[in-house]
Amino acid sequence: MNIGIVGAGIVGLAVAREVARTRGATVTVLDKEDRVGAHQTGHNSGVVHAGIYYQPGSLKARLCREGVALLRQYCAEHHIPYDEVGKLVVASTAAERPGLRKIAERARANQVPGIAELDALALREVEPHTVGVAAVHSPHTAIADFPAVARRLALDVEETGGSVLLSHPVRALRETASGVEVLAGSRRLRFDRLIVCAGLGTDTVARMAGAAGDVRIVPFRGEYYALAGASKDLVRGLIYPVPDPRYPFLGVHLTRRIDGEVLVGPNAVMALALEGYSWGDVDLTDLRRILAWEGTRRLAARHWRTGAREVLGSMAKGSFLAAARRYVPELTRADLVRTAGGVRAQAVARDGSMLDDFAIDVHGRVTLVRNAPSPAATSSLAIARHIVGLTSVLTR
Ligand SMILES: Cc1cc2nc3c(=O)[nH]c(=O)nc-3n(C[C@H](O)[C@H](O)[C@H](O)COP(=O)(O)OP(=O)(O)OC[C@H]3O[C@@H](n4cnc5c(N)ncnc54)[C@H](O)[C@@H]3O)c2cc1C
Repeated sequence: MNIGIVGAGIVGLAVAREVARTRGATVTVLDKEDRVGAHQTGHNSGVVHAGIYYQPGSLKARLCREGVALLRQYCAEHHIPYDEVGKLVVASTAAERPGLRKIAERARANQVPGIAELDALALREVEPHTVGVAAVHSPHTAIADFPAVARRLALDVEETGGSVLLSHPVRALRETASGVEVLAGSRRLRFDRLIVCAGLGTDTVARMAGAAGDVRIVPFRGEYYALAGASKDLVRGLIYPVPDPRYPFLGVHLTRRIDGEVLVGPNAVMALALEGYSWGDVDLTDLRRILAWEGTRRLAARHWRTGAREVLGSMAKGSFLAAARRYVPELTRADLVRTAGGVRAQAVARDGSMLDDFAIDVHGRVTLVRNAPSPAATSSLAIARHIVGLTSVLTR
């Protein structure tokens, strides 16, 4: 078979490798950018999530656990940096204890190894500069170099005879009786099947396929500060708040990265373009489409208070400092320096709910990954197995 994949992010490349490896198919990965992992894959926190948060029985819960095991092995085989620095989810007030307890229960239900509930003293043995009334410790939560994983996956694809065609934006596609014709850059290509892993570009490609569907991607920018100088030593691993169950985002956290930097963030503000990496990035066509979607308007009506707070705190050093000092009070204003952020591709349903689980949709010969937010980088190798295992995806 001749399989096309749209998107050279970590998910598209993992799918391409899996198709080539297990089906002996010829794969061609198409990406509009001139490098792999240019969007979400290259702009995230770099955390290999252990599977703590997700609804037991959901795709996220299953594919995150499977994904961690596969990714750990893959990184070891290819000498890609991977470090089990461990994570604390910290309750800073007594009122957060019930939420923390639920996190511990979920983690156990998802069979996350090594979960421990710590009191105020014990949590300081793990993170000596962190304060809180209690914490859940996940010692195997790790950090990894996701862009390096993506680059290695691209090499795997090429080594099995496939191609990764960069600077090839998919501009049009048409399903015929025998395949899918794709116009990518200036080339006309034909595939037996097409698998779309286009992140922020999902809706654009879905429209081309006549498969707009009943969810839309809404871009949520995550902004970060980084810790400067010696203040980095105040954080050993990963320090997270107790998440608000109403949102799929985890709240501003402190994250040690594989390159030694320590991040504070990300927040979550709706971007003014699908690839809206700053307030200056405004795309009126994107914006009109995003706002025309009933789901966006319902989401805004429901969560306008939180949304307004996030916008007001956007890039405000004071709000990031306050969030970080809740856990590490020694931090000062001078310790925080601005750094690059990322944009999450979050699917929103017509009723205004943010899709929590991964979502994959088969539409004739075209398979669309409709929702692959965090922890999709962690889960990428398992998502690939899952998609290739869906009988409807690759049968002629
Ligand atoms: C701020 C932030 C923090 C995060 N933190 C974590 C974390 O700590 N751990 C974790 O596991 N996950 C995290 N995530 C989520 C994770 O980054 C994503 O789930 C994952 O990278 C999704 O990969 P992808 O391949 O689906 O998307 P992407 O990496 O966005 O790739 C999609 C690709 O499709 C291409 N494309 C789009 N349209 C077209 C077109 N028309 N033609 C050709 N190519 C096209 C794009 O150029 C892009 O390269 C985070 C995400 C963000 C934004």
